[in-house]
Amino acid sequence: MSHDHSHEEGSALSDTALRVKALESLLVEKGYVDPAALDQLIDIYENKVGPRNGAAVIARAWVDPEFKVRLLEDATNCIKEFGFEGRQGEHMEVKENTPQIHNMVVCTLCSCYPWPVLGLPPVWYKAAPYRSRAVSEPRAVLGEFGVKLGDDVEVRVWDSTAELRYLILPMRPENTEDLSEEELALLVSRDSMIGTGIALTEAPS
Ligand code: FE
Repeated sequence: MSHDHSHEEGSALSDTALRVKALESLLVEKGYVDPAALDQLIDIYENKVGPRNGAAVIARAWVDPEFKVRLLEDATNCIKEFGFEGRQGEHMEVKENTPQIHNMVVCTLCSCYPWPVLGLPPVWYKAAPYRSRAVSEPRAVLGEFGVKLGDDVEVRVWDSTAELRYLILPMRPENTEDLSEEELALLVSRDSMIGTGIALTEAPS
């Protein structure tokens, strides 16, 4: 089974990336855009706006067992119910983390990532070390992200492709019975949905 890279990444990346760089340089040079503003925009889509979509889906699964069952069976359509669809999210699968199994996501060949639910991929996700080490030594990588797993926990690594994108359903933190769905969504970090983190125990201030 080959890793399908019919999208604009992999070997074609250099061409697109070069064009984007050239365009950015030109715009900056002409004074049309501020590079700091561009960085800020990317930061917003990478860390704030993008992952909030996925967090809403996860919080729903935490409070609604029937939805969770459906989400694990047919993620693409369940996510569509929220209005989250489009490029790089056409075929979604959700993997549930449990006390026995920890799932994490990588794209070994480039940076396939579920844009509609997570926004833009973080830089480390696209970097060669993560892409190779997530497969060769996932526990070490998880440790560096601060995720400590017992030896009895099985780690499963899912390799994203242009055909299929994954979203991790992290475990719901303890002592959150009194929280609303909206409050729960604040506990769902981006990394917990990639599998390189776990859900937060309190909302970030
Ligand atoms: Fe890829």
